[in-house]
Amino acid sequence: MKIKERKKMYGRVKGCERCGRKRGIIRRYGLHLCRQCFREIAEELGFKKYY
Ligand SMILES: [Zn+2]
Repeated sequence: MKIKERKKMYGRVKGCERCGRKRGIIRRYGLHLCRQCFREIAEELGFKKYY
């Protein structure tokens, strides 16, 4: 059930969760971030591998 709710939320996201940018949104790992913000957060989360 929770997963379904999450998916709905995803559909509502119009842009980056952090800066609101609409271009280059990455929807990976349950995040909605533009490339720049994703990169910053990815580092925090330990996803350096991917960039
Ligand atoms: Zn952003």
